[in-house]
Amino acid sequence: MKKIPVTVLSGFLGSGKTTTINHIIETKRAQSVAIIVNDIAEVNIDGKQIGDKILQTEEKLVELQNGCLCCTLRGDLFDETRKLALEGKYDYLIIEASGVSEPLPIAATFTFPMDDGKSLKDIAQLDTMVTVVDAVNFIEQYHSNEMDIQERKTRLHTHDHTSVVELMIDQLEFANVILVNKSGLVSAEKLDKIHQMIRAINAEAKIIDTNHGQVDLQEIMNTNSFDFEKAEEYPTWFKEMEREDHKGQKDDGSHSHEGGHGLVHSHSHEFGLTAFVYRARKPFAPKRFMDFTDSPIAGLIRSKGFFWLCTRMDEVGDFQLAGKLKDYRKAGKWYSTVPKENWTPEMKAFIQEEWVEPFGDRRQEIVFIGSDDEIDQADITKRLDACLLTESELNEDYSKFPDPFPRW
Ligand SMILES: [Zn+2]
Repeated sequence: MKKIPVTVLSGFLGSGKTTTINHIIETKRAQSVAIIVNDIAEVNIDGKQIGDKILQTEEKLVELQNGCLCCTLRGDLFDETRKLALEGKYDYLIIEASGVSEPLPIAATFTFPMDDGKSLKDIAQLDTMVTVVDAVNFIEQYHSNEMDIQERKTRLHTHDHTSVVELMIDQLEFANVILVNKSGLVSAEKLDKIHQMIRAINAEAKIIDTNHGQVDLQEIMNTNSFDFEKAEEYPTWFKEMEREDHKGQKDDGSHSHEGGHGLVHSHSHEFGLTAFVYRARKPFAPKRFMDFTDSPIAGLIRSKGFFWLCTRMDEVGDFQLAGKLKDYRKAGKWYSTVPKENWTPEMKAFIQEEWVEPFGDRRQEIVFIGSDDEIDQADITKRLDACLLTESELNEDYSKFPDPFPRW
């Protein structure tokens, strides 16, 4: 049996997902398409609008409402997809996620085991992850502090702690294709800026400008562009860290910052982006590092990485800055805290590469991505160096230094 190909459409409410689906129905020609729409509210407005379009009998519309595909309705998504795939009547399945859905758990649903030991992957082929953004509101949404998108008003418990910018990043990082919808309503300059910001988040996705969801269906269906393993490597910060790691090895671990302009060798440079990794082998004084993250960083679009505080010597801090979002959490423990006898061979290999006395694998490793003409690598490096403990501080009892970071 041929696996049914699947495209997942993500994007905030108002970005144009429904318009895009209507466009697909109108232009799909002979293909028979099944559509799953998800609205977290009880009344499925999207479903109504799409339902009006579906008059032909070979189409099928499944409405999943009063919950969200990436969490509360994951079981229903699984069941419906399985049913549609096994029916064998449809050439293609389109899934429209709610505006607050994260694409990664939706994609992961395809790996869940079924009763017979197989998974959805055996009967359905996740083909393309598409994210639609609203050109008119994109920049404002990215810099918003609020969780004020309309769908949030239903306050699904699982999404209560997610901000607009976190959701945007989740939806963009995981996409193969990003549609910048309503592009005709903004100036060329603003459109360039939007492309630059998107590229700062996702190094790989194809970016297409659209109006009224009018996109060539070849760009979003049967592209064969989704790959479970590769998906984790799309994010620009990840690419950048990998690339710098390679450089570090070539330099015999001296971690030279030669070149400096991170994305020069990739196509990202055409977007006017600079990316670099800040690295250091001393802990931060928490108060000084907090002050750094609270002060403006010119031209910054996104920053992400691992940090290390002198007051929490064993813990890896995970850090990100994007728009007004500042997020710090515990990522785990340094390998240095694991007794040697418990090291696995893989750990040993990694540890050998990363080990520097006297602190082992403890380190600062933070990626900065911003616009070429504004971001100042030398200044950021200088300011971060000033957050590191000095030689004399390293001889003090630094475990008691003031630490304004949240408990984790
Ligand atoms: Zn969800």
